Amino acid sequence: MEEKLRALTDRVNQLARAYYVEDAPQVSDGEYDALFDQLLELEKEAGYSLPDSPTRRVGGEPLTAFLPHTHLGRLWSLDKVRTKDDLLAWGERVERLLAAAGAPKQDYALEYKFDGLTINLTYENGRLVAGATRGNGVVGEAILPQIMTIRSLPLTIPFAGKMEVQGECYMRLSVLADFNAKATEPLKNARNAAAGALRNLDPQVTASRHLDCACYNVGYIEGKTLTDQAEMLAFLREQGFPVSDYTEYFSSIQAVYDAIVAAEGRRETLDFLIDGMVVKVRDFQARQILGSTDRFPRWAMAFKFAAEETTTVVEDVTWEVGRTGKLTPRAHLEPVELCGATIRHATLNNWDDIQRKRIGIGSRVFLRRSGDVIPEILGAVPGDQPQAPIQKPEHCPACGAHVEHRGVHLFCTNSLSCRPQIVARLAHFASREAMDIEGFSEKTANQMVEELGFSAIAELYTLTPQRLEGLSGFGPKRIENLLSAIQNSKTPALGAFIFAIGIPNVGAKTARDLARHFGTLEALRQAPLDALLQIQDVGEVVAMSIRDFFQDPFIAGQVDKLLEEGVSPQAETKPQRQSPLTGKTVVVTGTMERMDRKQIEALIETLGGKAAGSVSKKTSLVVAGPGAGSKLEKARELQIPVMDEAAFFAMVEEDI
Ligand SMILES: [Zn+2]
Repeated sequence: MEEKLRALTDRVNQLARAYYVEDAPQVSDGEYDALFDQLLELEKEAGYSLPDSPTRRVGGEPLTAFLPHTHLGRLWSLDKVRTKDDLLAWGERVERLLAAAGAPKQDYALEYKFDGLTINLTYENGRLVAGATRGNGVVGEAILPQIMTIRSLPLTIPFAGKMEVQGECYMRLSVLADFNAKATEPLKNARNAAAGALRNLDPQVTASRHLDCACYNVGYIEGKTLTDQAEMLAFLREQGFPVSDYTEYFSSIQAVYDAIVAAEGRRETLDFLIDGMVVKVRDFQARQILGSTDRFPRWAMAFKFAAEETTTVVEDVTWEVGRTGKLTPRAHLEPVELCGATIRHATLNNWDDIQRKRIGIGSRVFLRRSGDVIPEILGAVPGDQPQAPIQKPEHCPACGAHVEHRGVHLFCTNSLSCRPQIVARLAHFASREAMDIEGFSEKTANQMVEELGFSAIAELYTLTPQRLEGLSGFGPKRIENLLSAIQNSKTPALGAFIFAIGIPNVGAKTARDLARHFGTLEALRQAPLDALLQIQDVGEVVAMSIRDFFQDPFIAGQVDKLLEEGVSPQAETKPQRQSPLTGKTVVVTGTMERMDRKQIEALIETLGGKAAGSVSKKTSLVVAGPGAGSKLEKARELQIPVMDEAAFFAMVEEDI
């Protein structure tokens, strides 16, 4: 038994390593899942799992609090420079100090400065026994269950001595984009996403963010001597730790600077955030000679790229009305330079956010910007004394209607004739992922409402050349182009139309899922909550948004008007014959004979069903073959119908 368990654990770990660390998958996701299920089954039989079992990574019960953790070795913070002169001055000082001590000239190691959260891992007897945040460098917070969910970090290593390894945890930008495509509350930036995930008491939340880690330092080690940075990184790699692809060594500080400039140039092409570069003296003996001040080691320096965080003063707050009537506070700031741009405005998210961040008029606040994201106010600086509180609006600043508090947001209750709402709805309706009306910008939407007095989206389809004449920027050519673009938009894909009408909480992807599932607009409009909840990724909030949206008589009228004007959404796939699988969510697990699992899943989709990867209350049917494990068990637990492969094919035989 032990042997079987060992072999299967090793196999799954090896595949996971190929996937997460080496980025070179050796099998399909389906095959991996099948092996993973087999391992779960075997562990259940055995009544235990090995210490390095990948099944331990899925995230256990939420913690009630983080406990303090004392690091074995101190985690230094680094001194920072931002200019070439300061960097060169540091290099000269290092070289002078070494020369004075009679040491030979030394190489520098240059690495990325990942913008994430620093963690400290403790290994003992080859096992990961503790994991903590950096904290103040001496004491951090214990977050081992959270850290264990990071697939690229080894749970066991060959080296048996006691050791601490430091790394920077981060979220890949591509992972963040995937996450946000499905999330109702998108995450603002990768750094906060990673830090928030690790400092979340619930390891399941951490697991759901698919974090990565780059290890860069052995802070403490017993039973082995490492002599320089290159040897240390090689040792970390050999032990199975994820290490950044980029480390370069230079013999002069000028060459280091040139490489920093080059790195800053390719910063935007990386799949992760870096906020600077770290330069270290390569040789450990030289580091000993240089020593440290009471705050920083003298042998390392962070070169920070152009500031992404600064402070400024909130001069005023105004409220802007979006297409759902949501009022978003906009902070007007004392102009400040950040990332090479002058920032005058920033978002404050919502009323509750203002309260939480304790911001008032005249507050000095931290401001952060990463990439092209809208600058965000992080909070008031410590000890801030605002001059006046920010007033909670009682009336819509655009139309004067009564304002309502729903959840954390404020809403204008006048969806009929509040102008900014109409402008925003029009612009959204015409946008690329929606009706894709070329040449129709937010500015055009504004002209339609302000100058032509539009009160409903459907009026777009009644536009004549005469009405457009005389609008600024509209010559004969532009009028012709716009009118033909509007005409051409009359047969949108159903998913695009569902997205275009702007149901709260329904993004482009969910809209496509809805279109595929229901086939027609009418079917979606009539769908009861239960039917909506059948769809993967549609939870209660989204389902209720959809239902409330279509039940609103004003909205129903607006949608009807569009249809009356000849807008005719097209089903994305040809309407299918009814099959026994129409509208069903099916999970296939275990080994299949007649076709492989991927082919069966494709068949399910062709027959109007949805193939899902995991069993939940939304699953209609589980097709189980030999070796089916936890999914089968879950299906039985939830009393979901289960059939074998033969029964499945007998059922669908007529339809294939
Ligand atoms: Zn209003």
